[in-house]
Amino acid sequence: MAGFTTRTIHAIEEIDKGAVTPPIYTASTFLQPTEGGEGEYEYQRGGNPTRDSAQRTLASLENAQHSFLYATGMAATATALGTLRAGDTVLMNLPVYGGNYRFATIELPKRGVDHRFLLDPNTLSDADFDDSVKAVFLETPANPTLRVSDIQRISELAHRHGAIMIVDNTFLTPYLQRPLELGADITVQSATKYLAGHGDLLGGVASTNDDALAEELFKAQLISGGILSPIDSYRLLQNVKTLALRMDRQQENTRKIIEFLEQHPAVAAIHTPGSHSSEEAEIQQRQADGKGAVFSMELAEGRDVRAFLGRLSVFGFAVSLGGIESLLCLPAGMTQGAYAASDLERSDIAENLIRVAVGIEDVEDLIADLDHALDAA
Ligand code: PLP
Repeated sequence: MAGFTTRTIHAIEEIDKGAVTPPIYTASTFLQPTEGGEGEYEYQRGGNPTRDSAQRTLASLENAQHSFLYATGMAATATALGTLRAGDTVLMNLPVYGGNYRFATIELPKRGVDHRFLLDPNTLSDADFDDSVKAVFLETPANPTLRVSDIQRISELAHRHGAIMIVDNTFLTPYLQRPLELGADITVQSATKYLAGHGDLLGGVASTNDDALAEELFKAQLISGGILSPIDSYRLLQNVKTLALRMDRQQENTRKIIEFLEQHPAVAAIHTPGSHSSEEAEIQQRQADGKGAVFSMELAEGRDVRAFLGRLSVFGFAVSLGGIESLLCLPAGMTQGAYAASDLERSDIAENLIRVAVGIEDVEDLIADLDHALDAA
């Protein structure tokens, strides 16, 4: 099989008039054979050649049989969790991204689907599964604590009890972690983040090797209609070609920034995938090819987080991550703003926990920016 970056560029053979990039088919509808039968494409919601090209490329990166693109990452999560029926229960790690939390606590109850949050999915055992549990939803590393869950072990456990395993792989992407190869049934990703990578596109992808689940994921495009547009599919297809280059640089920048922060007296704690315990470090090492470029940190007692934020000039104070630009945010009031106070507390998300998403800028500038701002804290 060709290498990862070769596949980002050559997974599709769409040579049209010698063009080295595929055309963008914006047509809403496609002419049908007047003598009866169906054309290859009928209507953009059900299928579009540009979206297909992007889907085939993303599928090849995950070694998946099927990938489906939606308008946002949340639409992909909604689709994966939309496979559950009234009376079913989903087990979900806590913390998760605030949108996933909102979906579990606000949307699923309307459908008669129950959820149970897991503070440490690695302690899951047979006893946690009753007949109603039909899915486990894991975000690993978790947003924003970077706690790590064992995809392979939990997939085996779920399967033994007739439940499917869904993994939100937004933080690492298939470049660094391929949950389907570890036994997951569906992966979802916010393509808004690393896949598109430039802070200017929202998208989501769900992938599977299971034909029956693939049919449900496809029907969600056709029936619910939250598809990625042809133009955004094309932009995603182009942007993903530099995914490995960007992530290599982002990881290298992250490594150097953490080295700097570890020595800084104003920083009390840094959380990275595997930093929570030696068990999680071993799992992370085994199941992923890198730690990615998101971490979280706490300032030392008495330091003023707002003063720190106010002095930054290269890092932007904003939600989102995975783009070429470095961003940081305060999850408690921002990405996890929908959490009940008790869930914030038991998730260890303090009000002043800072989530940092490192971009591709020159690392000297990023470190100087943090240094300057920490002095003001
Ligand atoms: N999953 C994770 C882990 C995220 O961080 C996000 C967004 O921040 C999403 C899903 C939702 O993606 P989107 O904003 O594209 O809907």
